[in-house]
Amino acid sequence: MRVYNFSAGPGMLPIEVLEKVKSGLTDYENSGMSVMEMSHRSKPYEKINDRVTALMRELMNVPDNYDILFVQGGATNQFSAVPLNIGTVNRKADYVVTGNFAKNAYKEGAVHLDAAIAASSEDKNFTYIPKLKPDMFRKDADFVHICYNNTIFGTQYDAAPDTAGIPLVADMSSMILSREVNVSDFALIYAGAQKNIGPAGVTVVIVRHDLTDRADPKCPVMLRYDNQVKNKSLYNTPPCFSTYIVMEVLQYLKDRGGVTAIQKINEAKAKKLYDYIDCSDFYTNSVKKSDRSIMNVPFVSPSPELDAEFIAGAAENGLVSLKGHRLVGGMRASIYNAMPPEGVDKLIEFMDKFAKSHKNA
Ligand SMILES: *Cc1c(COP(=O)(O)O)cnc(C)c1O
Repeated sequence: MRVYNFSAGPGMLPIEVLEKVKSGLTDYENSGMSVMEMSHRSKPYEKINDRVTALMRELMNVPDNYDILFVQGGATNQFSAVPLNIGTVNRKADYVVTGNFAKNAYKEGAVHLDAAIAASSEDKNFTYIPKLKPDMFRKDADFVHICYNNTIFGTQYDAAPDTAGIPLVADMSSMILSREVNVSDFALIYAGAQKNIGPAGVTVVIVRHDLTDRADPKCPVMLRYDNQVKNKSLYNTPPCFSTYIVMEVLQYLKDRGGVTAIQKINEAKAKKLYDYIDCSDFYTNSVKKSDRSIMNVPFVSPSPELDAEFIAGAAENGLVSLKGHRLVGGMRASIYNAMPPEGVDKLIEFMDKFAKSHKNA
């Protein structure tokens, strides 16, 4: 039986994509082999590599002066790749710390350059996004780094901040292709695939071409954007199978109306869940309303004991991986693109039943 998987990552994938992958698993498009067994220099794989790039460009409306790369090492590897590739002019970068991943990016930045925290929401346990103004950034910073959706704390930016021309870098791991973004507002976007667009193993990097010519000479070859651009992400053996599944997920998204269509669905799912939580006198979400994520919804019941009982009970009802991150506790429902609206309806139904039977318990 398939369950509704509310995991923050790896997240759910559309069943239609899994079935399609299964049907071609042992013989992909009459090649006589699986994509797992295929040379990355073969014609069928070249086609996959070109197609996934074209689909990403189309779905995100990526302008021609940006390169799209599919690389390994997860979003975490980009915490190092970004400073080593583009933090090389004045060797200074400003970070906005809005959660655990944003902080990890800052810490890794500080290994390679003069990293500063331009703003932070740690004072209120990352329950909001700080208001950013251009004068909060050092004029000679090589880039400003933000985390667009904070997976653990359940906050999101509603728009790209104004950095007065300093290249803006965004970690979009937990929201890429969930809602519209204007790629030109950013100098560089990166995202691990395993939340919204595929399995773990591949990370997408969208980088303005003029920023790819300034890598630190000591930058490891695998991290160098210019090297990956020149080789169309095929410098060494890429994660072919993961990339192939990303291609199928993107095709699935395109067939269903692309980002505009999925954004409407995602906003409706999130609104329903937040509205239920806000009306309830049993569950609470402590994130500032204007900064609430439409992808990750943390909430708590009146006590940690009830939280634990809730999580176990939900799992028995086919609603799994609802345990909150250890830094926050309670519950977290990750409702990425692949979570169908019925999954959210079922969750609310269970929440309501649980609240009614545990009130004044
Ligand atoms: C999950 C996540 C990461 C870490 O991704 P890996 O691919 O595991 O390195 C980084 N940033 C954000 C926002 C995430 O959600």
